[in-house]
Amino acid sequence: MKINEVTAEAVGKWQSIFSSLGIDVGNGKHCPCPVCGGKDRFRFDNKNGRGTYICNQCGSGDGLELIKNYYHCDAKEASNKVAEYLNLTVQVSHLTRCELAQRLNRSGYHCL
Ligand SMILES: [Zn+2]
Repeated sequence: MKINEVTAEAVGKWQSIFSSLGIDVGNGKHCPCPVCGGKDRFRFDNKNGRGTYICNQCGSGDGLELIKNYYHCDAKEASNKVAEYLNLTVQVSHLTRCELAQRLNRSGYHCL
């Protein structure tokens, strides 16, 4: 999966992606930055559902950028974390057991 496909899939889901990764972004009000700390320098503004944020200390960016800064990893690794979360969500919420088994079989896994 390409990075821009992952971020396209992630639109509107960043709040739950962050909480699944243990990143506390608050509720849109000023709060400590999950990356650099402080008291009220960070704000999660989530423009267009893209997970955007503003920090007075370490700057602003989108959801992927925050994961990169939080884990000190590159964009590829950050997008892998997001893709992992999104796949899990898809399996649980949209696929029936049967569809899931078929999908697993197609990619070479044994039926559970
Ligand atoms: Zn910061």
